[in-house]
Amino acid sequence: MTSANPLLEEWKTPYGLPPFRDVRAGHFVPAFDVALVQHNAEIGRIAADSHAPSFDNTIVAFDASGRLLARIGHLFHNLCSSETSPELQTVERTMAPRLAAHHSAIYLDGALFARIDELHEQRHKLGLPPEAQRLLERVHLDFVLAGARLSSADKRRLSAIVERLAELQTAFSQNVLHDESNWALWLTEERDLAGLPPFLRATAREAAQQRGRPDAWAITLSRSLVAPFLTFSDRRDLREHAFKAWISRGEHDGEHDNRPIAREILALRQEQARLMGYATYADYALVDRMAGSPAAVARLLEQVWTPAKKRAAEERDALAALAASLGETATIEPWDWRYYAEKVRHVRYSVDDGAVKPYFALERVIEAAFDCAHRLFGLSFILRPEIAAYHPDVKVYEVRGRGDRVIGVFLHDNFARPTKRSGAWMSSYRLQSRIAGDVLPIIVNNNNFAKGARGEPTLLSLDDALTLFHEFGHGLHGLLSQVTFESLSGTQVLRDFVELPSQIFENWLLEPDVLKRHARHVETGQPMPDELIQRLERARRFNQGFETVEYTACALVDMALHTASEKDIDITAFEREELKRLGMPREIAMRHRLPHFLHLFASSGYAAGYYVYMWAEVLDADGYDAFLEAGNPFDPGVAERLQRYVYAAGNTLEPGAAFRAFRGRDPKVEPMLSKRGLAESSTAA
Ligand SMILES: [Zn+2]
Repeated sequence: MTSANPLLEEWKTPYGLPPFRDVRAGHFVPAFDVALVQHNAEIGRIAADSHAPSFDNTIVAFDASGRLLARIGHLFHNLCSSETSPELQTVERTMAPRLAAHHSAIYLDGALFARIDELHEQRHKLGLPPEAQRLLERVHLDFVLAGARLSSADKRRLSAIVERLAELQTAFSQNVLHDESNWALWLTEERDLAGLPPFLRATAREAAQQRGRPDAWAITLSRSLVAPFLTFSDRRDLREHAFKAWISRGEHDGEHDNRPIAREILALRQEQARLMGYATYADYALVDRMAGSPAAVARLLEQVWTPAKKRAAEERDALAALAASLGETATIEPWDWRYYAEKVRHVRYSVDDGAVKPYFALERVIEAAFDCAHRLFGLSFILRPEIAAYHPDVKVYEVRGRGDRVIGVFLHDNFARPTKRSGAWMSSYRLQSRIAGDVLPIIVNNNNFAKGARGEPTLLSLDDALTLFHEFGHGLHGLLSQVTFESLSGTQVLRDFVELPSQIFENWLLEPDVLKRHARHVETGQPMPDELIQRLERARRFNQGFETVEYTACALVDMALHTASEKDIDITAFEREELKRLGMPREIAMRHRLPHFLHLFASSGYAAGYYVYMWAEVLDADGYDAFLEAGNPFDPGVAERLQRYVYAAGNTLEPGAAFRAFRGRDPKVEPMLSKRGLAESSTAA
């Protein structure tokens, strides 16, 4: 390692992107050391200021502090998620508790909080503009919820808890990645491949090549491989084998066992909530959410759960009838559901993945997403192939808004690889702000699509294409941000509002007009035929019982887990008992079982918060109806309000007020229920 550390130098790269090529894992700890000292000095100066607290010398100064640390931290966390290595994982284990301790020390700094608290007391007399007022209220609330009002003894205990949680959450996440990248179902002969369509054979071959066995086929536990395998494989024995491995991630004895880790996380969260004066962790977590209380979440989930189970039972009967008609199993097992659902879908709607995929080449879907952003918000995405990111597969785009003004940079990282964690997500390298000159956002979208075999295009399933649109919606939330203060920028909104910009964006993919333009056959270039578009539309509600049950079960178990008061929770037993109490259909598994439920245990962000997707679905289904009511999915007036109050507003508006400003009224739950095909059966409730 040379003495110069690129992380500490000025980044004279295009748009100030990180100098990816020059950065080594060994640069991080020394750079963090410097950045932490610098941030502490900045905080110390604010806290010790001899002048009376003012909005500028306290709140603005706080918002502007820690930029070096943030710059390094964004890069570090993004690399740990998208392109990790054993060296980076070691740094991650060292740094996670240190960073957590640093963060918590700032929020527990008595002198700093005294100044913020004093300003908060006078907030109505300061004559602040609305965004500044909002920033003051948000900063104050963050401090209160982080324990700023606690006694010093309680503060010490809270810091220890937060630090230990960071350690445990890192281990939880690394264990899931271990179980996903170390397991593969090896297929070695033709009979192992029975039922697999060409695209799946090709991607399984590619996965095997990546693992050094070019003569075989590998089914890994990446959702984009195992889910299609469970959908298409005629080999019931192999489906069972793969399914069982998939749902037992994190649940193996030995050094990668997540069960004791989750148990300790839950105990610490209970203690944290009690210290803060709340009965349960869920009560504490819900204070700063749009829902406001566990009871409000329960009311929403209850409206969904019973009709979803009823619908799932009807779906199961249809699958069983089809299986029986083929002379196959009389009992649908969890590893049979996707397989027979695909066959029923084919019989009932003549829509199967094989017929749809050729219209969803990755390049076409990306083009569709960019075009929708253009028609709605006037954005253009210009590929900059000469700019290298952290992996050759990552594409870098310059983003231009109306008037051809550059508004940000977009990194698109679409393929699965062993160094990337599973799932799909949006993240930032830099957040938009205006307080110290125009700072442009640098946003990344990660997907985990199985790459097409060498020389072959990557074809997406409808689900994959929706995922791409979803993450792109989050990306737009980061890119379109137009706020003054960094702390209020982009996606830093309340957790149950953050999925609105992503979920509403999914709607545009299935607009016939969009499909006609962009869903073109990979070989012939012909647009998707009208009758296939109609069949897709009819098939949309198909299997919604299954989808709603596998999701809602997770949301219900999450809330039960974080409202539980018993000490020492055995997560496997808890999950089993809770599912029994809820009447979980035996043929359906939770979408994420607790031992690998990253939303709950890889960070605290979604703990007592998995419900947020459905909460936001109420907002997005009702919100999208505004375009339907206007008679045009790209209605300029509705798009302008959506941009101003949702995509550009960051956290400058209270979410209920933002929604009302966009929609003209409070959200209604009915559009979500009807979109899922659950409305009729739920009207009696
Ligand atoms: Zn999302």
